[in-house]
Amino acid sequence: MKIYDTLRGEKVDFKPVHEGRVGIYVCGPTTYDYAHVGHARVAIMFDIFRRFLEYTGYDVVYVSNITDIDDKIINKAKERGEEPIKMAHRYAEEYMKDMKSLRVREPNIVPRATRHIDEIIKLVQTLVEKGYAYQSGGDVYFSVSKFKDYGKLSHRSIEEMIAGARVEVSDKKREPLDFALWKAAKPGEPSWPSPWGSGRPGWHIECSAMSMNYLGSTIDIHGGGADLIFPHHENEIAQSEAATGKVFANYWMHVGLVRFEKEKMSKSLGNVFYVRELLKKYRPEVIRIMFINSHYRKPFDFSLKNLEDSKIILEKIWSAYTDFKKGKKCNYCDLCHEYEEKIISALKDDFNTRKAMMHYLQFISEAREKNLGVCAAEFMEKMDNILDILPKEFGKSMENELIDLIVEIRNKLRKERKYDLSDWIRNSLAKMGIKVEDEAQRTKWIRIR
Ligand SMILES: [Zn+2]
Repeated sequence: MKIYDTLRGEKVDFKPVHEGRVGIYVCGPTTYDYAHVGHARVAIMFDIFRRFLEYTGYDVVYVSNITDIDDKIINKAKERGEEPIKMAHRYAEEYMKDMKSLRVREPNIVPRATRHIDEIIKLVQTLVEKGYAYQSGGDVYFSVSKFKDYGKLSHRSIEEMIAGARVEVSDKKREPLDFALWKAAKPGEPSWPSPWGSGRPGWHIECSAMSMNYLGSTIDIHGGGADLIFPHHENEIAQSEAATGKVFANYWMHVGLVRFEKEKMSKSLGNVFYVRELLKKYRPEVIRIMFINSHYRKPFDFSLKNLEDSKIILEKIWSAYTDFKKGKKCNYCDLCHEYEEKIISALKDDFNTRKAMMHYLQFISEAREKNLGVCAAEFMEKMDNILDILPKEFGKSMENELIDLIVEIRNKLRKERKYDLSDWIRNSLAKMGIKVEDEAQRTKWIRIR
């Protein structure tokens, strides 16, 4: 299996620290607002990557944190007159709910910064003792010039990094690139006692402390959105490797940004950059397919057209699945073997989900041509261990039986040429997210929302 490692800047063979086991740490959200489509892309892509690793036989430990203390949280809470950590935890719950709606499986561990203050203080202490960090006022800073490899992940020069985004300005720092490991408490802010007086952790240090706490000093894969490469991940490497003298992560994977024209989108669709708003208009599987259909490393242009195209693909998939399921019995077929290999080898090549989806759709058309039945449906179910895009509610349920009945009534009305009434039923079902399709021999229905 090959993975593109941001640090080495190329596709490299993947070899975990311990054979058969993979430890992954992915930087999660700072929870001061609802999850947006950028969060959704990172969570969905790593969800599918994790499932794929499990599918190929790895034992995966997947850790993804919640940043529940940060300047942004404190500022937003102040604006709203709320207690910062309480507010952060409320948004964290909402984030977990949104991800669940997107069929993202919960990580094995979801650590929160405020619950790991002891580990964070210990790590800062080590860095001070080793001479990599210095105290200034009640703050503690990491001295970037002491770590000679600084910049190795983002491949930037010192000048470029100084000009880069999110470098905080402070007269307490010795040099502009130095970053806060610990911040002295301001009045009214949440704080914890420490050897440097009461304060709170800086943003970067929490991920190093939690990653090492749960996965050890050297982990297999560290990931996140491409916006975190600098300074967040660069700083994580510096502080972790300075403290342990070991390589912090063997592979760095970054999911490209989601770009969208906020104003244009707002006019046509409302606030759909929020996951929960998007889910009022589109099924979660549509959103999964939309991201599966693009290469994870590339920036993604979020648009109405992309959503509508993905919806058409989903309908095609569900309609085929329904037909195969009702089709003739067949044994696990040669075609299924052939396509399983194709899909898995696409994913083994730096997790090329776009190519995998192309094979998946090709399988569907070939299986239709060959008039395959149940075994094709079974193959799709097998692949769904990775993709998770098939209808969940398939099978006999009271609701499905009632829809069958309504569709049957509509067919009887059509035979009697009562088209006003039959069209009214079809339109009413469409409003409920049930699409009725008339074919030559029969009528079928699928859920589209
Ligand atoms: Zn992080």
